[in-house]
Amino acid sequence: MTLRVLIAGAGVGGLALAQALRQADLAVTVFERTPTVRADRRGYRININRVGGDALAACLPNELFRLYLATSNDEARARVAVFNHHMHPLYATDVGVDGTAVPRDHTGVNRLTLRQIMLAGLEREVRFGQEVVGFEQTPDRVRVLLADGSTAEGDLLVGADGVGSAVRAGLLPQVRTRDTGVRCLWGRTTLRAALRDRLPAPLFDRVAVAVARKAASGSGGPTEPVNRTWKPPPR
Ligand SMILES: Cc1cc2nc3c(=O)[nH]c(=O)nc-3n(C[C@H](O)[C@H](O)[C@H](O)COP(=O)(O)OP(=O)(O)OC[C@H]3O[C@@H](n4cnc5c(N)ncnc54)[C@H](O)[C@@H]3O)c2cc1C
Repeated sequence: MTLRVLIAGAGVGGLALAQALRQADLAVTVFERTPTVRADRRGYRININRVGGDALAACLPNELFRLYLATSNDEARARVAVFNHHMHPLYATDVGVDGTAVPRDHTGVNRLTLRQIMLAGLEREVRFGQEVVGFEQTPDRVRVLLADGSTAEGDLLVGADGVGSAVRAGLLPQVRTRDTGVRCLWGRTTLRAALRDRLPAPLFDRVAVAVARKAASGSGGPTEPVNRTWKPPPR
């Protein structure tokens, strides 16, 4: 009998795992509370370093990994620099850099686009509009409880349902999240020529964070896909 893995949450973690399990010929069902992939507009992009890139390459079929690379920034632009409020550089870091420049280091990618790519081929496995509210363990299986009153059974349940995880709340009720008081507002716009001309040059080199007084900061990171070549990793 094939092992059936149930995953709560179709974010980047849940979808990467679902793709990897599919490639290993295991049965998988993903429950996602939002009605569609587009319904979740959180986050404008995500920077992926070499560790993440290698993990994605291992999880995704080669054609999907190529698509992810084709829609992402080059490595240099995903690096981070901090400026003061006059755009004088204070600090620059190449997060996780190990000295080698390979095409999948430090890419920045539109989070929605990445999730759309990671959904390809999982149309039957991902169930949108199904919120996990709890689970029950039987001696050798697990039953997922869904908000609409239905249930689903599998051999293993993975909580990939984010920071407010319902799975974690059931399994580890003593583990709680803490509000740090930090608040972020993010926006996104199309990079048209007129806007491009008005933006400071350092923005096009890296993700730039400008720190102002009173602990406020602003950041920006233009995303422009680049053509790159890539060899599939050995399987
Ligand atoms: C502003 C911002 C910028 C970030 N930038 C970066 C970055 O550049 N690089 C980086 O590596 N990380 C970054 N992170 C962190 C990164 O976003 C998270 O680590 C990552 O999204 C976690 O992935 P996940 O799949 O575990 O959870 P999520 O991406 O949060 O996905 C969880 C999914 O589960 C669904 N869900 C939630 N509850 C339920 C439920 N009860 N039932 C069913 N579905 C449910 C949600 O709708 C969602 O689709 C950033 C985070 C923020 C907030």
